[in-house]
Amino acid sequence: MKIEEMITAKRADCSGCAACANICPKNAITMTRDAEGFAYPKINPDLCIKCGRCDATCPALNFQKAIINALPATFVATYQNDKILRHSSAGGVFTALSEIILRDGGVVFGVAFDKNWHVFHTAVRTLDELEKLRGSKYVQSQIGDVYRQVKDALNSTKVLFSGTPCQCAGLKHFLGGDNENLLTVDIICHGTPSPAVWEFYIGKLGQRNEIAHVNFRSKRNGWGSRTEINFFDRAYYASQNSQELYCKLFLRGLSERPSCESCKFKILNGQSDLTIGDAWGVKNFAPEMFDNRGTSVVFVHTPKGADFFGKADLKTQPVKFANAVRSNIHAMVPTTADSRRKDFFADFAKSADKFAVMEKYYYQNDDDIRKAASAQQSRNFRQTLNDVAAQIRKTFKRNILVVTSIPAADAVAKKSLLNQFESDFPGCGVYILQRADAKLVCTENFSLIAFDVKEDNDALNDFAKKYNVTEIFSDNQFDSPVMSEWLKACGLPVKFF
Ligand SMILES: Cc1cc2nc3c(=O)[nH]c(=O)nc-3n(C[C@H](O)[C@H](O)[C@H](O)COP(=O)(O)OP(=O)(O)OC[C@H]3O[C@@H](n4cnc5c(N)ncnc54)[C@H](O)[C@@H]3O)c2cc1C
Ligand code: SF4
Ligand code: SF4
Ligand code: SF4
Repeated sequence: MKIEEMITAKRADCSGCAACANICPKNAITMTRDAEGFAYPKINPDLCIKCGRCDATCPALNFQKAIINALPATFVATYQNDKILRHSSAGGVFTALSEIILRDGGVVFGVAFDKNWHVFHTAVRTLDELEKLRGSKYVQSQIGDVYRQVKDALNSTKVLFSGTPCQCAGLKHFLGGDNENLLTVDIICHGTPSPAVWEFYIGKLGQRNEIAHVNFRSKRNGWGSRTEINFFDRAYYASQNSQELYCKLFLRGLSERPSCESCKFKILNGQSDLTIGDAWGVKNFAPEMFDNRGTSVVFVHTPKGADFFGKADLKTQPVKFANAVRSNIHAMVPTTADSRRKDFFADFAKSADKFAVMEKYYYQNDDDIRKAASAQQSRNFRQTLNDVAAQIRKTFKRNILVVTSIPAADAVAKKSLLNQFESDFPGCGVYILQRADAKLVCTENFSLIAFDVKEDNDALNDFAKKYNVTEIFSDNQFDSPVMSEWLKACGLPVKFF
């Protein structure tokens, strides 16, 4: 398939990464907005020499699913300087990484507002300039010719490129692979809303008075999701993102790019050295790292990423991958678009009163749609986590089953037992089998997926075979004749602790 066919027949495959436009030797491709306001490539036949480089470069046409052999090392982290932490959306990891590059004379590429509050990718070369890249802008950014700029810069200096996962994939495809001077940092990406909706909205707000500052992640009331817009007359407008007109449409999946609903570039696909996001839920899995000024989650994909992350001036703590993604499912699964999405964009495109269209969808009762979308996303997440766990399971040579009398409800004792076995048997699958009410429940150490196991001989044998258990540790206090019999008869080495 070629780009032109894809844009006609499978338009939703195009993420708008602009790798095709950047690679074209004749500048025959213009990224042109459609009726929804998203940019797609348009080829000028008068300039095109049919060299095929655009098709060969497109990450969507040349997509190859990564083979997952291991989960990325996962950390939570916070920047140490109070002012920078408060001005960062999460825990300020982006700034800490960028400082390493800038102090070394390098260039950082990321996303900024222009004077009209439109959103685009740009380069910064000094610590002072870095301020304009700080903070999430919930709009699809315009790439322009930034991949070409990155390529030029790489000839002479170190470069940090930050963007959405599809943009990092676009850059890697444009460059034809990695480069030793390049550090790629992508964000956990919920999806990106239409620039046309944002530009209309901010233009409308700007009619009231000139806008002085836009912050999609104000921390005035602590770390969370709150938009704040300041005007030059000192007035300001602030709202929780779940209630804010523009952000609610985005978060509900009404205004995102079609490709976001089937995104191929989630964290395990290997387009970046590091992935950064908000450490939502950190209070539950690493409470000592919770900071009301923001905590980041970081997934380390490559040795280069590990090297930079290790050098960054951050307070860090390792955490389990499964814990981090559970409270942040869009790290792994695409958003489910709102079923009214098409109608919203059709109304928005044709209506003279676009603000009224936004309000109409904002105020509609969407409880049922929201519940259905959320249930679908949860199912997708469980399925994805199960698929990933199945791939990782195959990589373990040694699988240890720990049979313990600690009840499953005692989360603290379970965590400590798991930690002990994980440190005694690194790189192994560790399965903790416990009683939960009247049944047995087994938890897998790396995925933290819990599944029921029937308490009878055949079921226990099937379980041990399916999960390729190679040895068993039992605390010998498990009050069950069935279990005692099975431990004697299972044919596996059993040790007591
Ligand atoms: C559209 C969008 C959706 C997101 N969805 C999630 C999510 O579902 N879960 C989650 O945990 N985190 C999400 N994030 C990431 C999160 O909001 C923070 O940007 C990230 O954790 C970095 O925070 P920080 O404190 O390290 O640094 P900050 O200083 O806040 O980092 C800003 C970084 O984000 C980049 N950036 C800003 N706007 C854009 C944009 N429009 N497109 C591409 N890159 C951009 C900048 O280049 C810079 O690298 C999203 C960000 C964006 C922009
Ligand atoms: S085929 Fe070659 S010249 Fe034509 S648009 Fe694609 S890259 Fe440009
Ligand atoms: S290279 Fe990017 S913008 Fe161009 S067609 Fe492919 S996905 Fe779309
Ligand atoms: S969700 Fe996927 S396709 Fe959409 S902007 Fe993010 S990375 Fe790109």
